[in-house]
Amino acid sequence: MKINVTKPYLPPYEEYIYEIKSLWDSCWLTNFGEKHELLVEALRSKSNVKYINLFTNGHQALESAIKAFSLKGSVITTPFTFVSTTSAIVNCGLKPIFCDVKEDDYTIDPSKIEQLITEDTSAIIATHVYGNICDHDKIHAIAKKYDLKVIYDAAHAFNEKVDDKYIYDLGDASMVSFHATKVFHTIEGGAIYTNNKEVSEKLKLISSFGLQGEDVIIHSGNSKMNEFQAAMGLCNLRYLKNVIENRKLAYNHYSNRLSSLEEITINKYCENLERNYSYYPIFVKGGASKREELVAFLKKNGVNARLYFYPLTSKFTIFEEYYRETPTALKLSENVLCLPLYADLSLEDVDRVVDLVIEFFG
Ligand SMILES: *Cc1c(COP(=O)(O)O)cnc(C)c1O
Repeated sequence: MKINVTKPYLPPYEEYIYEIKSLWDSCWLTNFGEKHELLVEALRSKSNVKYINLFTNGHQALESAIKAFSLKGSVITTPFTFVSTTSAIVNCGLKPIFCDVKEDDYTIDPSKIEQLITEDTSAIIATHVYGNICDHDKIHAIAKKYDLKVIYDAAHAFNEKVDDKYIYDLGDASMVSFHATKVFHTIEGGAIYTNNKEVSEKLKLISSFGLQGEDVIIHSGNSKMNEFQAAMGLCNLRYLKNVIENRKLAYNHYSNRLSSLEEITINKYCENLERNYSYYPIFVKGGASKREELVAFLKKNGVNARLYFYPLTSKFTIFEEYYRETPTALKLSENVLCLPLYADLSLEDVDRVVDLVIEFFG
């Protein structure tokens, strides 16, 4: 049996069918229907923000936030992220200025942000990489000094808390992805969490053609979440605790067995973080070729690990004109590997992966 790097969690079939039954009665399938509103409320009750706007996916949510804050010019961001973060900036007509990341937790390095700020800079868009939360105090101080907006790509950080407080209120807004492969999903989906009422109202308009009245359009685009997506979210939310608990068991089993292995380093998480165990990243010592050999060896034995994030988003040809050197991020992209991790991953399967990793290093 193959072990994939990830596998979507599904609620019991009957439960989802029951959840969507009322849609056949109401015939209301999208456009802010009952399930949509229920999901907003359910998510809000598990958050520390006043407003949550739902979107068809996390990427559209991020683009919509960039538009809602009317960002202009250039944005300081990280190249060690999923392509979506950079795409959103470029798609909105802004220039990404790539800042290097920290060696220990892979998030943007605040000590390198200030030197990149110019007259043109309007925001910092940073990613909570693998669920590790950015150095938000330092980022906040810089943003305040230069009057910049801060948007977090929190696609990996759903349900996480720092010092017992949810991470959603850090910065001006947080984007969360509800893609099938994430800790919590709505098949595809995403959200913007914010305390800014005006921005939330704008986001609703942006997600629905900017239709302010029947004959007034004030924004372009369409990115609403539909009722079937929201219904999946309502079901999955009931299992969130189990999902995270199971991920944690698998995560800890990996760590127990791998932590003494000298050929790799396990990603560090800060102590005061209540985690969601979204990924199992390891840093493979011995350079890019060693990592490639390990991936090939795992694959030959039925285990799909993932080069995530590789390449750096600044290395994609379509973003060539924005390239800047970011040595730490480059090193990480050449050495980090994500091992399989998902809610249904059995401890026996973790053992199988670990045995292969140990066998590889001899
Ligand atoms: C998944 C992901 C996204 C995009 O989310 P979608 O819901 O797939 O559009 C953005 N940023 C990061 C870091 C992600 O992992």
